[in-house]
Amino acid sequence: MAVKPILPPAMLGILGGGQLGRMFATAAKTMGYRVTVLDPDQNAPAADFADVHIAKPYTDPDALAELARTCAAITTEFENVNADSMRWLAAQGVPVSPSGDCVAIAQDRVAEKTFIRNAGLATAPFLAINNAGDLNGDLSAYLPGILKTARLGYDGKGQVRVKTAEEARLALSDLKHQPCVLEKMMPLVAEVSAIVARTSKTEIACFPVAENQHVGGILDVSIVPARVEAAIAERARQMAMQLAEKLNYVGVLAVEFFVLEGDELVINEMAPRPHNSGHYTLDATLTSQFEQQVRTMCHLYPGKTDLLRPAVMVNLLGDVWGEHGAEPRWDVLLTAPNTKLHLYGKKDARAGRKMGHFNVLAASADAALEQAEAIKDTLR
Ligand code: ADP
Ligand code: MG
Repeated sequence: MAVKPILPPAMLGILGGGQLGRMFATAAKTMGYRVTVLDPDQNAPAADFADVHIAKPYTDPDALAELARTCAAITTEFENVNADSMRWLAAQGVPVSPSGDCVAIAQDRVAEKTFIRNAGLATAPFLAINNAGDLNGDLSAYLPGILKTARLGYDGKGQVRVKTAEEARLALSDLKHQPCVLEKMMPLVAEVSAIVARTSKTEIACFPVAENQHVGGILDVSIVPARVEAAIAERARQMAMQLAEKLNYVGVLAVEFFVLEGDELVINEMAPRPHNSGHYTLDATLTSQFEQQVRTMCHLYPGKTDLLRPAVMVNLLGDVWGEHGAEPRWDVLLTAPNTKLHLYGKKDARAGRKMGHFNVLAASADAALEQAEAIKDTLR
């Protein structure tokens, strides 16, 4: 069936108005589309760039009806959006991508890891924990490990590292007996991610693989190209595309991997949306991950994804702001001609809060990293 492309100045809807929604809105507006953002927060970062901001909950029937009535296509910027809201919108005849079903899988670590495994792709050993009784058997395959809540975890939140079954039981109680997964702690050589764009006509493209360094469970730096063997990076891209195919995915899908000794690659998790580790695509590829989101939801072709220049992305957390929200010293960063600053317009610079990022483009990933680290040191 030929699907007609949705062209500017059509209205595009997005559930969620955080920084990812803001960068989506920027990409869509640049291309001449109009944008409606649904986000209950009056100060949602995406609202600055949206034509319409509906400040209501994601399950509000009037808000959803307005989206269905006014938007030519709808997407989401965060995986914890109500999957039933997505399904309801699709049932009204509006193209919704990714599908509520794909979002539902990505929302739940048990469903996610089970799906990945059934797709023939590797994960770390994991055990679904629905109640304390599930911790009574032989756990040696999963210890030392990490107990992670099945739902609503992000940036390392909702995770407890455990060495023994006793610690796992205490951790489950600390996590209020929510459904969890117990996952074996893997010896990581590196972490990498691959971001796929796939259309309803099954055209598929994958960005170059990023190498990701986390601090305190939050992404700190992404380095592109990843400093792993080319064959490993290529395998990660293939696995990410395979996963998108198995999900019959439409939209932008981010896949995080652990690189282990012996060139082993396992999938950590996926996100049904653009990803923090793909922010380098704003400056270092012809098409950004946010433009891919526009292109895939509008039944266009994915844009070119090859890397124009090695890049390093550095996250700017609220910690970089001084006491009482004093601005970082931007002078060195903004004076460097090969550096791009992206701020999300958030007013309250709390510790650990993602306030913005910057990209450094250089002749090599190592050179970009060295410069990025030096610039970071000048901010405070
Ligand atoms: P989140 O949804 O918070 O991103 P992740 O499952 O990706 O949760 O975990 C956050 C980080 O914690 C990972 O990027 C990795 O650095 C570390 N981590 C998570 N699971 C494991 C594991 N099984 N073994 C080793 N490190 C892990
Ligand atoms: Mg993660």
